[in-house]
Amino acid sequence: MNRYRKIVETMKKEFAADIEAGKEQYVHAVIREIDYEFRKYAEKNRVIDFKKFADNMLRRLRVPATIQTQLSNDLEDMQRKINTLWKEMFETETNTKISDRAITNLLASYQIDFSSIDIGTTIQEEAKRAVNTGTGYNTLRAALQKRNLGFGEIETLSNTAIAMFDNAAHVENAKQAGVMYYLYDGAEHPNTRVFCKEHLDRVYTYTELAAMSNGQGLAVVTSLGGYNCTHYLTALINYVRKEYGEIFNANHFRRAA
Ligand SMILES: [Zn+2]
Repeated sequence: MNRYRKIVETMKKEFAADIEAGKEQYVHAVIREIDYEFRKYAEKNRVIDFKKFADNMLRRLRVPATIQTQLSNDLEDMQRKINTLWKEMFETETNTKISDRAITNLLASYQIDFSSIDIGTTIQEEAKRAVNTGTGYNTLRAALQKRNLGFGEIETLSNTAIAMFDNAAHVENAKQAGVMYYLYDGAEHPNTRVFCKEHLDRVYTYTELAAMSNGQGLAVVTSLGGYNCTHYLTALINYVRKEYGEIFNANHFRRAA
């Protein structure tokens, strides 16, 4: 693993830990919105019907706007940092000047629409339970506090967007630097997919990778084996492949003249 890859992997881990650390704050923010909606509902209705309350809220309750903004900013900040590292590596190692224009487009395409996360289903489930057990709002509220309220989806979407952007930025910088070959890189684990096992440690061109299918509808160039895949592409600077899909061979690096 090269020095830059090590830094990027550490940054990705720290980013995931930061997201995880924000869980409590997130759940509080959502509960505050539920409290607000419940007060409004209770003011208007003398008889409290949790199911009706939940159904009314379903249409409106989303990841709180302040949290959406915060997450989007953190995500973009991390993506920019990752790109800065790859740009620095390819500029240094290949002596080329890399343009930021393509990266600006990549940043736009790996943004997440957090508003699509469904919190309503969980609320509806708990409201139904509250109706069946005949409990009060405080019990419903306590039950909701124990639920994820969409946080698991936030984590999955964020970490996936970082991983995909990482590969996309690596490849974009490599393309601009004139790199031809990529190593299907990373460690093999007991739960490594068959698709990844087949390709790990082998050398491919961008076109070959772009034509592959991991069977999950995600591009191999950015997601390799698919959801939660920990593998990544490593651009091979000055490498000359002898045959299609060969196992990486350090002797195939072109010697400096
Ligand atoms: Zn994999």
